[in-house]
Amino acid sequence: MSTQRTNAVLESGRRKPVSVVENTRRSEFFGSHVFNEEKMIQYLTRDAFESVKNAIFTGSKIDRKMADQIAESMKAWALSMGATHYTHWFQPLTGATAEKHDAFFDLLPDGRALEKFGGGQLVQQEPDASSFPSGGIRNTFEARGYTAWDPSSPAFIYGATLCIPTIFVSYTGEALDNKAPLLRALHAVDQAATGVARYFDKSVNKVMATLGWEQEYFLVDKALAASRPDLVLTGRTLVGQAAAKGQQLDDHYFGVIPLRAINFMKDLEVECTKLGIPVKTRHNEVAPNQFELAPVFEEANLAVDHNLLLMDIMEKIADRHDLKVLFHEKPFAGINGSGKHNNWSLATDTGVNLLSPGSTPMKNLQFLTFFVNTIKAVDTYEELLRASIASATNDHRLGANEAPPAIFSIFIGEQLSAVLDELEGVSQGKLSPEEKTELKLNVVGKIPEILLDNTDRNRTSPFAFTGNKFEMRGVGAKMNCAKPMTVLNTIVARQLIEFKKEVDKLIDKKKLKKDEAIFNVLREYIKASKRIRFDGDGYSESWQKEAAKRKLSNNKTTPEALEVVVSKSSLNLFQEMQVMSEVEVRARHEVDLETYILQTQIEGRVFNELVNTHIIPAAIGYQNKLIDNIRGVKEIYGSGFKQHAEAALAILEEISGHLAATHKKSEAMTEARKKANSEVDIRKKAQAYCHEVRPYFEDIRYHCDKLEQLVEDKDWPLAKYRELLFIR
Ligand code: ADP
Ligand code: MG
Repeated sequence: MSTQRTNAVLESGRRKPVSVVENTRRSEFFGSHVFNEEKMIQYLTRDAFESVKNAIFTGSKIDRKMADQIAESMKAWALSMGATHYTHWFQPLTGATAEKHDAFFDLLPDGRALEKFGGGQLVQQEPDASSFPSGGIRNTFEARGYTAWDPSSPAFIYGATLCIPTIFVSYTGEALDNKAPLLRALHAVDQAATGVARYFDKSVNKVMATLGWEQEYFLVDKALAASRPDLVLTGRTLVGQAAAKGQQLDDHYFGVIPLRAINFMKDLEVECTKLGIPVKTRHNEVAPNQFELAPVFEEANLAVDHNLLLMDIMEKIADRHDLKVLFHEKPFAGINGSGKHNNWSLATDTGVNLLSPGSTPMKNLQFLTFFVNTIKAVDTYEELLRASIASATNDHRLGANEAPPAIFSIFIGEQLSAVLDELEGVSQGKLSPEEKTELKLNVVGKIPEILLDNTDRNRTSPFAFTGNKFEMRGVGAKMNCAKPMTVLNTIVARQLIEFKKEVDKLIDKKKLKKDEAIFNVLREYIKASKRIRFDGDGYSESWQKEAAKRKLSNNKTTPEALEVVVSKSSLNLFQEMQVMSEVEVRARHEVDLETYILQTQIEGRVFNELVNTHIIPAAIGYQNKLIDNIRGVKEIYGSGFKQHAEAALAILEEISGHLAATHKKSEAMTEARKKANSEVDIRKKAQAYCHEVRPYFEDIRYHCDKLEQLVEDKDWPLAKYRELLFIR
């Protein structure tokens, strides 16, 4: 048998669950490794503490003297926790996180050794980061970039390293990362939403976007995963015949979690708890060996950091349990892929969820205001929101037959639809006392009761209102949530600013009362954004047709989806909201295209390798066995041999056919790649990879999978789906 696969199967079969003991309550060590408020109070002077709090609340700068003090305290805490190194932890445009560790240890000129960490090192660092993607920003502007402390996300200790969350910017101020634009978008939505929230409550001074992500992933035995070059290099299986049993019995979903997996989860959750990641739920997902983890929601910037940190920790802990985590959006064909639902809302500093209906008509009008404005924002910028979750790997879900579709629509449920329909009929201008009473009692007043069970049962909507938050479902499992969150918060900010202008105008010019003005503007928004609302089955063909009629975008591939990012309206939006300059937007567009190209290119190369060095040799080996057999039969039976070698001959024929096709298509794919590589224009190159190279993948796979079904099992070199998905 092919030795690598055999060894892997044997090794995975011998595994013993790695046990995990958890004997303290989680609340007792929650955040023990985080320099959080509790530690700050303990370690910082009052002034220093105030200045950090101010920086978090108002975004004010921390001066150098204060930074020195804070650094000194942070160091004292870190050393007491056994840390030896510190790092600026940042989010380059690769989508992952990056860090460069420096030791606290230092030498004085006289040779004495000490542990050193000053304000300078806390506030700013210059990583040698010239090989991070910048979409040309650094070539055009300034060669160097630096990382700068983000006090709104607390420092934490991971392993023996103090990690300081930072933004990564060029010396000319352009963001080279995903965090800086997110922070700007969060600032924009804070300002805009605070302005609107104050219509309802003058004591509101700040609005925070909240994010609760739900992370899906697969767990595969480490040895089995390592035996597959495609999993190692691309994160997904490029070939592989579906196992006889997949997810059709629905016996995995919410079932008993396998022992090795549950031990991994416990271990992971302990680590998360120390790091202040409030993990809460865990369960099996739909596909075999697929799972989900979700925390309690948090302020969006912190939630994004926590998700990135989580993905990093997951890989390390999985290793301890001899498992490999797959974050790829579609690691296995034919069964569900993995996403990362982003639950989003807005919360005031007075503790009110603005997307949660309240107990009085005024609170419900506030709810409706934010609810309708979000719908309007998504309607206006649906294509941009789609673009924010575009990637080569996510194309396997969004463009293909997997929830949710590439068309953006919003699910709000029957009852809220009825409320909006009623509001559409509100009179122009001033409202009669009767109408106001009617609205208060029977429309706005009825909201809380009807929302108790607002769930999108078929779960195919990419953007669903689920009771007190919106849930963005198309986000890819391995994506940095910062990207969709930057767009969502920017478009909502923009929409709320627009809304406030219109309401104020009606109040000033038309002398309407505040609530009348709000009803009037909402009415128009509801009418204008009707096309985005859809509660039906997102997969259905009829919806595809209907969506086209409604002129909703349906960009199935990343190169297409990304186009809108550099449109006039998108550039204006980001510029006006001071989230990204034109240069920054164009740079991201370029990096995203480049990433798409590189990922597809790598898949193409791995495909060639698999075909030439694994699949074809295995098939030829079996072909030879058959030929030997047929030759032997012929020796015995002479000219009448065929009737005695029927099966062997038939299989030989089939194998030869698929072998030839595999080889031919793989060669043709290589040619297509060469041609694509010769394109200088990055858009055209991405298009070529998308439309000329990628289609071969399915084709080649088809023949390889046929070969897998024909070649003797013991001679097949690649771990099979049943092994990858059912060995636990
Ligand atoms: P489910 O969708 O599984 O029924 P929930 O609706 O309780 O469960 O929550 C799902 C996710 O939504 C959780 O990760 C939770 O933290 C998040 N969530 C709940 N409320 C909010 C909110 N106001 N803002 C952001 N995320 C939220
Ligand atoms: Mg959910």
